[in-house]
Amino acid sequence: MAAVERVSADHPPFRTEAFIDGAFVPAASGRTFSAVNPATGHAIAEVAACDAEDVDRAVKAARRAFEDRRWAGQRPLERKRALLRFAELIRTHRDELALTETLNMGKPISDARAIDVRAAADCFAYYGECCDKIYGEVAPTTDDNLALVLREPLGIVGCVTPWNFPMIMAAWKVAPALAMGNSVVLKPAEESPLTALRLAELAAEAGIPDGVFNVVPGLGVEAGKALGLHMDVDAIAFTGSTEVGRYFLRYSAESNIKRVALELGGKTAFVVAHDVKDLGAVAEAVAGGIFFNQGEMCTAASRLLVDNRIRAELVERVAALAPRWMPGDPLDPDAPAGAVVSREHQGRILSAIQAGGASGARLVTGGTAVRTETGGAFVAPTVFDDVAPSSALAQNEIFGPVLSVIGFDGLDEAVEIANGTIYGLGASVWSADLAAAHKVARRFKAGIVYVNCFDADDITTPFGGVKQSGFGRDKSLHALEKYSDLKTVWTRL
Ligand code: NAD
Repeated sequence: MAAVERVSADHPPFRTEAFIDGAFVPAASGRTFSAVNPATGHAIAEVAACDAEDVDRAVKAARRAFEDRRWAGQRPLERKRALLRFAELIRTHRDELALTETLNMGKPISDARAIDVRAAADCFAYYGECCDKIYGEVAPTTDDNLALVLREPLGIVGCVTPWNFPMIMAAWKVAPALAMGNSVVLKPAEESPLTALRLAELAAEAGIPDGVFNVVPGLGVEAGKALGLHMDVDAIAFTGSTEVGRYFLRYSAESNIKRVALELGGKTAFVVAHDVKDLGAVAEAVAGGIFFNQGEMCTAASRLLVDNRIRAELVERVAALAPRWMPGDPLDPDAPAGAVVSREHQGRILSAIQAGGASGARLVTGGTAVRTETGGAFVAPTVFDDVAPSSALAQNEIFGPVLSVIGFDGLDEAVEIANGTIYGLGASVWSADLAAAHKVARRFKAGIVYVNCFDADDITTPFGGVKQSGFGRDKSLHALEKYSDLKTVWTRL
């Protein structure tokens, strides 16, 4: 077992065991894995390494809770109250949760506090409010029939989440699933399992009954796979890489044809027309779009497509902003960026940078590890110009602070390049000609499009992709469709 770093005297101990049927329990095998602080490289906790046996235990608990209707059978008003209490408890524990998130995955503490905790709480409150506002339908049949269309929970929902926004990704799935009356088994990413475990405890404190919200930390190939293959899981809601998304489709086909919803990778094109009025504002949006959260964003603005007439000036402006996004100590409230999630991930980012340089792209700024003396995993904000649209730099999701600049001549070429990857998650277009911008917006093959802005966000809007960025939507009322089914009930009058 790795030595565990002491965090701080006033930080409550991390929850490290699986949360099954309302109680913390060790993995049946007794095995653990280390949760590592990526800013120091030190282990901060030893976490239960759940495998198929633990997943089965959690699914059985979730099934019991579902079948005895202890949650789904409550008055919707009561479920709403519990979810609103849960949201309030998240807010009450804001500092603790933010610190845990930062220590476990390296993001700046001010972002964890202002964005991650707030968005997770708001998400539970939003879906809590939905509980008593969802209606079925009466179908327009002949007078001698009554045909009801009921909206029912699916049963057991397995949620499998990534490490870049651990609490938010969990909330986007668990909240609508619970609002519809399902029971949930959550498998957080092995890099960042700690906040999910604390959330489950707070949910219990808020009155969500035992067995309704279970958390099984563990490796993807063990706990994640077991959940995907389980014969009694009704649906999987997955966010992560396209590669692992494919596994979940296979798991479903090889087991019980469970429903699968996939929020996968992206390679957002940020298209800038020659007529933009405020190049400074565009440069700020590009830099924030790629360097925020260390570039570990599915919608990161990783490809800057810019009209060749203004390309040199925009590249210069973005490069000049890069130092403002230089990572610092994630615990420093003024740090604009923190550590990337692990040394392994840092290695992958640096390899992509090296291959980019070798492919003929021109390194404008960054390209190296920084703060190496800390033992942590930090990468300098990096900009490449002259990137070939078909190169690995422009095609592969790097999931780090690496911007690829590609020139174009005219918006037709821009749209072709923008749509020329396997992904279809985010896209952005900037132009003084709003009609031209909206025509481009319609031609983008993407689930989320920004016109003259970037990364606007609200829980009321659907979030998700097309093509190999997956299918199904998180957020908004549309997300509820993923966690419910329609049942038609005929009565002959
Ligand atoms: P990942 O695909 O490696 O892991 C995601 C989850 O799947 C983790 O919980 C992991 O343990 C599990 N997993 C891994 N291998 C598995 C297997 N063989 N069987 C079952 N489960 C397995 O992704 P990541 O590295 O944690 O996150 C980064 C990825 O997430 C990026 O591709 C990013 O674009 C994507 N992402 C997408 C969205 C979106 O909404 N579209 C949001 C955030 C992140």
